[in-house]
Amino acid sequence: MLRDIHPDKAVEIIVQTTTLMRPGPETEFVPLSKALGRVLPRPLSSPIDHPPFDKSAMDGYAYSELVSEGIYRVVGAVAAGREADKKPGRGEVVKIMTGAPLPEVAAGVQRVERTKEAGKDEAGRSLVAFTNPEQFSNIIRKGENLAAGSILLSPRVLAAQDIGIIASGGLAGIEAAVRPLVGIVSTGDELALQGRVLPKAAIYDSNGPQLASQAQAAGVRVSFYGIVRDLKKDLSEDLSKALDECDILLVSGGVSMGDFDLVPSVLETLGVEPIYHGLLMRPGKPSFFGARGRTVVFGLPGNPVSTFVNFEILVKPCLYAMMGLKYAPPMTAAVLGASLERREVDRVEFLPARLVSTERGPEALALAYKGSSMITVLAEADALLRMELGRKQMEKGAIVHARRIRP
Ligand code: AMP
Ligand code: MG
Repeated sequence: MLRDIHPDKAVEIIVQTTTLMRPGPETEFVPLSKALGRVLPRPLSSPIDHPPFDKSAMDGYAYSELVSEGIYRVVGAVAAGREADKKPGRGEVVKIMTGAPLPEVAAGVQRVERTKEAGKDEAGRSLVAFTNPEQFSNIIRKGENLAAGSILLSPRVLAAQDIGIIASGGLAGIEAAVRPLVGIVSTGDELALQGRVLPKAAIYDSNGPQLASQAQAAGVRVSFYGIVRDLKKDLSEDLSKALDECDILLVSGGVSMGDFDLVPSVLETLGVEPIYHGLLMRPGKPSFFGARGRTVVFGLPGNPVSTFVNFEILVKPCLYAMMGLKYAPPMTAAVLGASLERREVDRVEFLPARLVSTERGPEALALAYKGSSMITVLAEADALLRMELGRKQMEKGAIVHARRIRP
């Protein structure tokens, strides 16, 4: 088992363990109406050409050869959704609407804004005058946007615009990654459930609901196993059940060096192989990670800010890896609004920070807080700033890369 490792190394190990355990994510067919937020783990190729035929990008008049200012005879019209049956010859044009198929011989479309109706000829056919022609423009060729068989969409978490792109290919749904089941257990004799009167020396369990919500936001399924006392027997029973049922288990509390921090040893008796215990990071140092069969287990330090940061940095890459995606956190480059200094430099530090927009771009301000039990600091925080190992200070005005923690 590894001890006190760099958080980057930890992420690497977590992703590697998860991917080895689940080579190629399991997938299931998901209709488009349910696909928002789901993970597309493999590139999707387009069954058709985009667009499927040569078409007009404008309302106007289709012509078949070099055009000049002058009068043209209108020999037909074609609307979107109709077939183009008339062909413009020399001196002739076909009226055409946006999205309508181009007549076979058409070389371009003169947009309607640059034309004027010019009465009728002797045979009673409409005439149109062109001004300032743009040669051979305003047409979109078949497959110009995307050729059949090429990649319609690369792997990602699906946003609304991605659903539109899939729909444009005529697909009624996709093979999405199966959503892993994340089990959550809050440990501690001091913990009480919301809605109950708070006993003496007790605090409400905030990690349970917080972790469940973080996991939900990442698009996985969540099962909350409740609060478990710091007793070997209770822990053993509940963790055993959760290990049997879940793909990923998150246990908060009980992983430090206190007399009642029993989680790692109980997990070991249940057959969990410990992979690391202790990280060079603040907050969240006592973090534990292990695996049993196809299940991975995180032991997260109980202080709510530590738990939150541990999830952001360590658990999220694991959830996405299980769904076949490499997690890339949302980052914003910002100017540091005030210098930062610290005494101890033996850990990578993640500082809750506010992002303020200024005329010169976003500015980041680290928020002062006393310790990782001060959960309300997160109400003000938009992002986490990272201070590297060995780094004593960061100067006001420096460019920092803030990891956003709010949508
Ligand atoms: P532990 O990691 O169990 O040593 O807990 C560290 C600190 O976090 C203690 O002050 C606990 O009371 C607190 N804590 C542990 N679990 C929770 C929880 N689920 N919700 C809120 N605070 C917690
Ligand atoms: Mg505890």
